[in-house]
Formats: sequence, C-alpha cells, structure tokens
Amino acid sequence: MDEFDAIVIGAGFAGLYQLYRLRELGFTAQGFEAGDGVGGTWYWNRYPGARCDVESMDYSYSFSEELEQEWEWTERYPTQPEILRYLNYVADRFDLRGLIKLATRVTSVVYDNETNRWTVETNRGDVVSARYIIAATGCLSLWQIPAFDGLESFRGSTFHTGNWPRDDIDFAGRRVGVIGTGSTGIQAIPQIAKQAEHLFVFQRTPNYSVPARNHLLTAEYQVSRKKTYREYRERAKYSGGGHSAILPTKSALEETNADRLAEYERRWERGGAPLMQMSYTDLMTSREANQTIAEFVRGKIREIVTDAETAAKLTPVDYPFGAKRLCVDIDYFETYNRGNVTLVDVRSAPIEKITERGIVTGGYEYELDAIVFATGYDAITGPLLNLNIRGRDGRALNDAWSAGPRAYLGLQVAGFPNLFTITGPGSPSVISNMVVSIEQHVDWICECLMHLREHDIESVEPLIEAQEAWVAHVNEAAAATLFPLAKSWYLGDNIPGKPRVFMPYVAGVGAYRRKCEEVVANGYDGFVMTSRQEREVAISK
Ligand code: NAP
Repeated sequence: MDEFDAIVIGAGFAGLYQLYRLRELGFTAQGFEAGDGVGGTWYWNRYPGARCDVESMDYSYSFSEELEQEWEWTERYPTQPEILRYLNYVADRFDLRGLIKLATRVTSVVYDNETNRWTVETNRGDVVSARYIIAATGCLSLWQIPAFDGLESFRGSTFHTGNWPRDDIDFAGRRVGVIGTGSTGIQAIPQIAKQAEHLFVFQRTPNYSVPARNHLLTAEYQVSRKKTYREYRERAKYSGGGHSAILPTKSALEETNADRLAEYERRWERGGAPLMQMSYTDLMTSREANQTIAEFVRGKIREIVTDAETAAKLTPVDYPFGAKRLCVDIDYFETYNRGNVTLVDVRSAPIEKITERGIVTGGYEYELDAIVFATGYDAITGPLLNLNIRGRDGRALNDAWSAGPRAYLGLQVAGFPNLFTITGPGSPSVISNMVVSIEQHVDWICECLMHLREHDIESVEPLIEAQEAWVAHVNEAAAATLFPLAKSWYLGDNIPGKPRVFMPYVAGVGAYRRKCEEVVANGYDGFVMTSRQEREVAISK
C-alpha cells in the first residue's frame, strides 16, 4: 500500500493550494479528484451564465505575488471558463498535476487506532494510507435533484447545473423547463431564454437579486489594483466577508428616508452584493432596517417587470432580504418581459410529477424537450458525509453528525484524529469570499502540521468541550442575525430530513481569523495533541 503524509481530497481552489503548500513544506501528499480536470466547483458548473459574484480581483489567490501580477482578469465578475482557465494555469505554473489523480472518487476514509493512520479507498481501486486527511471537497459540490415522481420517465434531456456536460448544449428550438431560482437558476435563466423556443421557469420561492453591472476591467484599473494588492489583501483577511471594502458605520434607521433611498439607489446602480454588505450596519440584524432594503428591491422588481402579475410572483415577501443567499444577476428580472418566457408558480401548486412529456403542476402538463434542474446542493456537510469517513473505534462521521455537524472552528472533529476540513461547518465558508477563507484554512493546517512535526506529535484533534463551546458560539452568532428567518441551504432546509442547523460562522472572517490565531498563540487551545508514546500507552490500557 502506498503511504503518504497526507491525502488531499478535491482539486479545486482548496485542494490545489493545499497540495502546493504541503509539497513546499516537504510533506508527501496525494491528491484525489473526482473530475477529469482540476477546478472543483468551476470544473463542474459549466451551465450557461455561470460566473462568480465575488469580483475577480478579490476571488483569486494571494499566496503568490508573481501569480497575482501576471494573471490578467478580464471582467469585473469572472465567468466560469475564465476561472477554470485560471485554476488550470495555477496547476501548471506550480507544477501540481503530478500530485493529483484525476477522475478518481474517494469512496471511504477509515482510521486505524493501532497505527494512527488513515486508509483511503477510491472507485478506481486505490488503497492508500496517510497520517493526515485533508478534505478539500468544497461546500457546494454534492448536487441534488429532488425525488420527483416519474422523473425517470421523462423522454427529453435532463441536466443538473452542478453536473453540466462538457459539450455545448444548444437549446435553440426547444421547450425548456428550469426548476429553481437560486443564484444558479437566476444566472442560467436569462441565457437559456435567449436560445430556447420557450422557457418555463418553475419557481417555488422568489429571490432577492441585485444587478451585477458587470463590465470589462480596464488596464488602468488592473494596474492600480496590482500596485496595492498587498495592503488590499491584508485588509480583506481581517474584514467581514473577505473583501477589502470600507464597512458601514451607520444604522439604516439613523438615516432619513430620502438619504437611505439615495444610498440604495447609488449601490443598485453600482451593482453587486455590496448593496447588502456595505450600505448599513444593521441590515442583517434588525428586521426594521432590513425591511427598508427589502422594500427598495421589491420596488425595483415592480419597476422592471412589465406584467404586474408576474412581478408580484417574482417578489419575495415572507423572508428578510439577504437571509437566503443574495443573488447577483445579469438581466434576470428583465428576462420575464420576453414573449418566450413563462413563470410558473410551484409554491401555490407544487410540482406533482414528471411525465414522459414534461412537468405537471396545478393539474396542467407543461410539455418540454429539456429540463434543467437548478435545484442546488446538499451543502457543506453533504460532501464530507459522502466520503464514508470512519474515525476512532470505527465511528462513522454520519453518526457523529446525526443531529447536525459538530466541529471545532470548522477545522477538525472530535474523535477523528488528524482529519482536517477546509472551510468546514462552523467556519465562515460560504458567507465569505471563499478564496480568502480557503487560504486561511490551508495556512492554519500547514502551521499545525509543522508544529506536530517539530514537536514529535503524532495526532491532533479537538477536545469535546472546546468543540461543543464553539458549536454553541456559532449558533449564537447566527441567532443574533436574520439569517435563520428564511428557509435556506445554510440551514439544510433544502434536504429532506437534514437537521436544521445554521452551518456557516457569521461573525466575519476577521473575527474568525483572530480566534484561530489566538488558539495557536495559546498552545493550540481546545485541541489535544498526543505523542507516539502517549498514544501507545493509551492503546495498551
Ligand atoms: P439553491 O440556492 O439551493 O437553489 C435551489 C433552487 O431550487 C431554489 O429556488 C429552490 O426553491 C428550488 N427547488 C429545490 N427543490 C425544489 C422542488 N422540489 N420544487 C421546486 N423548486 C425546488 O441552489 P443554487 O442556485 O445552485 O445555489 C447554491 C449556491 O451556490 C448559491 O447560494 C451560492 O452560494 C452558490 N452559487 C454562487 C454563484 C455565484 O457566485 N454567482 C452562482 C451559483 C451558485 P426553494 O428556495 O423554495 O427551496
């Protein structure tokens, strides 16, 4: 059996950087990646309109100044093909491909008490052993299609946005149904509408969405940003969401109505998520403050969508602005003014079944040639539970997390020694700029592994008390916000039977990073570290 210091699962932003750092530090490592190329999320999500709604010059690695300086982003919000090119460039530039086995899915990860090593098996028959397991599996990689009756009988083509084919799909002349109006559906719908003969959008919950106002980046802008990249990145690391923005200092309720509207208008014109993050301090903590922005966006929907009935259906009314993940779009609401687009409300009349010809709802069968499922993911915990992890004494992670995820700092789980999760539950993860959070986790893990090596320590895992206190703190932080007031994948609401727990840590990447630094400064406070001798004594008892 091949033996490594570390196995890294996944070769997206997280896995690539993790492999790079391990190699630089002299650890032997093997990466496994289910896709037949690197890129993770950006490998799989090839649906029309896919792009990131964090600005490109923020949504990029900061670990190499050379990389930062030589890579040229072309648009404010990068498209999927551009991000995938960037990640492939990174894989080549840092010579990482030799460390990764592609088209290889990890099927089990099992800890051995006696040897303090993990055995990893894959669908290609690999059986390898490692001291450390680093799950770089992404938060939104386990896509899901709801169990619609009759799904298998449909005679047309079906697609899930998170598993989009590599070939170009042409919807010209076809009647297409899209189920789902989250960030993905909202990006895909305007693009599919341009091609399809007719597009039917099956919407259960309307979403708040803000225009992206995407544009090409000028050479001057890139040069000026690159000159100040270091200070910029440093500010991002200690910010709220992982962008170097000037945070608001004022409550929305301190402002006059006219000034507040002017502020929202200015940010709406500028485009993007800063409308939520940077306008006022209390949009996500005060219902009254939130109501001001929610009403502003509702007004915009009514202004854009010409048919009043369609506008009303598209208007979110029963949850706070931003409590479901805020969407950022290009011509989303405008798309409903096209003659070839029909909005079908499947909240008042849920999808009854899928037939060989199409989708049945409200007693009517919508005949379709293709169905696009933009129905989301078993987020954050799904990809980890899918690895079939068994820790000390054969305990399955699925059992340890049967009432919801329990992890210390989103980095480690008690009872699973030397297993690390990058952007795991209880860390800022999806509430932040993922690249900033990924780099911080990888750096923290590497510092920890160096500490173990230098001090001849064989294993690290959280103390149960520290883990429980952290989980309680993560829950308290979420409870102080409006996030739990919406049904969302942040809470696992989209997966039947999934425990309702708010998974990301909402207090900001700066507060979180300081906590992680403090833990290290206090001798890995909350972690238990065991030398070989101590472990052998424990086993012999
Ligand atoms: P999502 O936000 O979970 O949206 C899934 C959609 O499918 C929702 O509209 C949901 O309705 C609908 N749906 C699920 N089951 C249904 C059913 N049985 N009947 C009818 N409708 C059903 O998934 P997503 O849009 O793929 O986005 C997931 C996350 O990926 C985003 O929140 C974001 O973090 C990330 N993402 C980012 C970008 C970007 O950077 N621009 C782009 C895409 C995705 P309900 O709301 O009623 O459940």
